[in-house]
Amino acid sequence: MSLSSSRRVAQVCIRYWDEAIVVGAGPNGLAAAVTLARHGLRVTVLEAADEIGGGTRSGELTVPGVLFDHCSSTHIMGAGSPFLRSLDLKRYGLEWAWPEIDLAHPLDGEGAGALYRSVEETAAGLGEDGPAWRRLFGPLAADAEAITDEVMRPMLKVPRHPVRMARFGLRALQPATLVARRFRTARARALFGGVAAHLFGPLEQPVGASVGLMIIAAGHRFGWPVARGGPRAIADALAAMLTEAGGRVETGVRVRSLDELPPAGAVLLDLAPAAAAGVVGDRLPPRVRRAYTRFRQGPGAFKLDLAVEGGVPWRDEACRRAGTLHLGGTFEQVARAEAEMSRGRMPERPFMLVSQQYLADPGRSSGDIHPVSAYAHVPHGWTGDATEAMLAQFERFAPGTRERIVATDAMSTAELERYNANYVGGDIVGGANTPLQLTMRPRLALDPYRTGVPGVYLCSAATPPGAGAHCMSGHNAALSALRALGVRH
Ligand SMILES: Cc1cc2nc3c(=O)[nH]c(=O)nc-3n(C[C@H](O)[C@H](O)[C@H](O)COP(=O)(O)OP(=O)(O)OC[C@H]3O[C@@H](n4cnc5c(N)ncnc54)[C@H](O)[C@@H]3O)c2cc1C
Repeated sequence: MSLSSSRRVAQVCIRYWDEAIVVGAGPNGLAAAVTLARHGLRVTVLEAADEIGGGTRSGELTVPGVLFDHCSSTHIMGAGSPFLRSLDLKRYGLEWAWPEIDLAHPLDGEGAGALYRSVEETAAGLGEDGPAWRRLFGPLAADAEAITDEVMRPMLKVPRHPVRMARFGLRALQPATLVARRFRTARARALFGGVAAHLFGPLEQPVGASVGLMIIAAGHRFGWPVARGGPRAIADALAAMLTEAGGRVETGVRVRSLDELPPAGAVLLDLAPAAAAGVVGDRLPPRVRRAYTRFRQGPGAFKLDLAVEGGVPWRDEACRRAGTLHLGGTFEQVARAEAEMSRGRMPERPFMLVSQQYLADPGRSSGDIHPVSAYAHVPHGWTGDATEAMLAQFERFAPGTRERIVATDAMSTAELERYNANYVGGDIVGGANTPLQLTMRPRLALDPYRTGVPGVYLCSAATPPGAGAHCMSGHNAALSALRALGVRH
């Protein structure tokens, strides 16, 4: 950017300092908007889709009256989010509901591993690995609030809780395969491995244990809740709060360039880095453009929603009571599938996540027809149809599932990207969780939300702390904008 254009941008920032534009009404865009509006800015959110919510949309996909989560469904980090915890969103209609069992991980020929909010109850079901689970997760669960507060801020900073962070960090730096060696039983290893696979990458990579440890620790503190009425309730609550604070949202507006926007003191982009580079155009400093266009997107997801009469006939009792299930078999089988997928090959038996959120929120069912949402980890941009492979995984642990299916809806990686431009190649985690991008995303910078153009920020899940409907990327980016504008927060 030349000196004169930089001066022009600075003048705009000063003159219109109290106007802010947010591009994208995903949870991060809405969180950014709420944060700015609560600090006195006049905020307009522009959303490409016809409805708000991004990855927190929900609706009928198959049978009338059966409500499916289109994307996010389990909100461990939503319930643990320092930003969401600081707001009285219940007043705006957001209510969490917890299933009886948070998570179950079925195995062939033996009982499923079951994860409960209570460390003790979980350990009690893990036989000889109970003490090892208690030793690892007892202290982490006790520190969960402090750890969550730390890891949900940008990484390059002085920790507020250095001892607790050191205790977490020493284990988080390890590969998940190393942490799994603490457990001897297939049940405990698989239970840990399924959560570790939320990394969406090879379980043997350094820093790979961080995602699983964080989710389990937070889950033992906050549980694995669902938003009553669907995750759309998160977006609706934030939008209501925004409107009350004087902000507004326009849907059906796809922003292609900064030049289309009215002058504003702050522009926040809830976009993937390459899309942000396109929108900002020539004003983006070359080093930032390089970082955004070279940013590595993650593998893809294949989504399969099933309307199931009478629910899925799981062989294992715990699975029938669990809100979330991980299908993939033993730790080693999950690790193999994730390694293959990361190398760009579709595994025969993909790792899958299944949600039975109607158990905590029965209003999502219609009579005895229940919504069951699943997605499989597939290679980035994979063009195939995973429906049969996924149904085979269901049948493996719940024989007779097929006969109970009343209707299905599937979304390939390309369809996911059409549904939401941020899901590049079907990547639903806002960028590959490589060791570097886990700690610093989307580029190495003290303030990763700044784009290098005064007044323009990136606020999507491609910035810290990464994927999830926890809203912290948007909130952090808004705080960065407020700092630059000299607004106290
Ligand atoms: C299948 C699936 C399952 C998931 N499961 C979970 C889960 O259980 N728990 C969890 O916490 N998270 C889950 N996630 C991830 C979570 O949904 C995302 O991490 C989160 O939505 C990211 O929020 P965001 O605001 O950064 O981006 P998004 O939610 O992607 O929002 C971006 C918004 O920007 C809009 N947009 C894009 N380009 C433009 C443009 N040019 N102009 C205007 N608007 C634009 C999009 O339409 C979209 O509304 C899941 C995601 C998927 C797809």
